Amino acid sequence: MNWGCSNPSFNKGHALNQSVSVFNIILLGAIVIQKYKDKTIPQLLKEARKVCHAYIKARDRQGNYATCISCQNTFLADIMQAGHYFKSELYSCVRFNELNINLQCEHCNCFEEGNLVMYEPNLINKIGIEAFTDLQDTVEAYRRSFFKWDRSSLIDIIDYYSTKLKEVS
Ligand SMILES: [Zn+2]
Repeated sequence: MNWGCSNPSFNKGHALNQSVSVFNIILLGAIVIQKYKDKTIPQLLKEARKVCHAYIKARDRQGNYATCISCQNTFLADIMQAGHYFKSELYSCVRFNELNINLQCEHCNCFEEGNLVMYEPNLINKIGIEAFTDLQDTVEAYRRSFFKWDRSSLIDIIDYYSTKLKEVS
């Protein structure tokens, strides 16, 4: 499996807090696996999208507002959308890659087809050229192969973003 996300950081400093935190995260993982074990692939895709986008929205907002990755205008965070640099319909391998998804205004995402001319330099500015190159390499690696999400990878995604969402909420 390679969905391009770094592992969650468990570094909480104090040893006791750290062990409690790791225990909670393992417990959360077990609950997530149990909860989703009977779901179909389309149901898992829907849930993965929901929790992933909720995390992106929580990560990118500054209070009630957020800046569009493309046009750099500021909008109410609640009306903004999770916009992919590499479109999820074309590049399934990075549809849940957190580097590939950033908050966008509706205009850029829906009416400018992602406004990629502006998205690219601002994304490089945000994540750095090395991470951007890694993202391109991931897409290139899967370009000629048929990528399909399986159940366990999707449950991993749901588990991963559920944990990340708790960390930033
Ligand atoms: Zn915009």
